[in-house]
Amino acid sequence: MNYIAVDFEWNQAYCPPSKKKNELIIQLDGEIIQIGAVKMDKDTEVLDTFEADIHPVFYRKIHKKVKELTGIDQSQLNKGDDFKVVIEEFKKWCGDDHIFLTWGPDDSRIMMQNLIKHNLPTDWMGKWVNLQVIFNMQTGMDTSQVSLKTAIEAFEIPQILHAHNAINDATYTAMICKCLELEKGIKDYYSTKTMSSLKHTACESYKIIRNCSNKVSVFANENIKNIKCPHCKAELSNQKPWIKQSGDRYITIGKCPEHGMYVSKLKLYRLKDKSLAGKYSMFASDGSDEEYYNNLVKANNERIRRRRRKKIAVKKQADV
Ligand SMILES: [Zn+2]
Repeated sequence: MNYIAVDFEWNQAYCPPSKKKNELIIQLDGEIIQIGAVKMDKDTEVLDTFEADIHPVFYRKIHKKVKELTGIDQSQLNKGDDFKVVIEEFKKWCGDDHIFLTWGPDDSRIMMQNLIKHNLPTDWMGKWVNLQVIFNMQTGMDTSQVSLKTAIEAFEIPQILHAHNAINDATYTAMICKCLELEKGIKDYYSTKTMSSLKHTACESYKIIRNCSNKVSVFANENIKNIKCPHCKAELSNQKPWIKQSGDRYITIGKCPEHGMYVSKLKLYRLKDKSLAGKYSMFASDGSDEEYYNNLVKANNERIRRRRRKKIAVKKQADV
């Protein structure tokens, strides 16, 4: 098993994202334009590096904020390679047995969105670990999202590389790994007790359910009905019924015997063609979600009871 410290840079939409969402549902918060990755063995010794520039096809014009931050200009953007080709190479380079290590929760989410948008499979990606959580646990920092720069400074890593460049940030991330107790950190990361820091920030599975005529067909979808563990693909045991959280948002919990509890969220969208679509995302749970879920059930039942009582009262009045 190898560790892969990875960082992506992405371009943003110039016009409001809703217009660029293409059917609204397939949100693309950022289009990946650069990949940087450092492969390490189990002792965090560097084995190899990977870097690529990608030319965007959805957000083609470099956003001025992105240009400022990354130093990537329009001509560099245009010279980038095709996303599908790069991903094919990257996949091969990653190998079969790896854990992705990122600084922050965004990279995994953005990569999943990009793969879905390009109609590419997402299941090869495997485990993602947000190192911020391990950093917080091992340095006694609070539960906030510490910047990469703060972590570099905390470990007195010399800052010789220009930040906000994918391979440089991946290199810094790999250097931070050397300063952490990585193996223990990852174990703790997955243990149920310590996930409370940066809760629900590392999305572990992300799916779009499309072409549904109504809610019943959304919930009949195989991915929604029988939720699987994102790591071992085992069907979750004791998956609770989906319950309405608010508006068009639903939630459920379930447990993998090996990898612990997961909370799944579903948001429904009515599309222009009147069909219904669902955005499904899944997160490791620290266990507090069970209480939250049970309270939601209680509140829902109470609402139903109240409605029933009201109905009976109205009927009684009408009978009088
Ligand atoms: Zn599992």
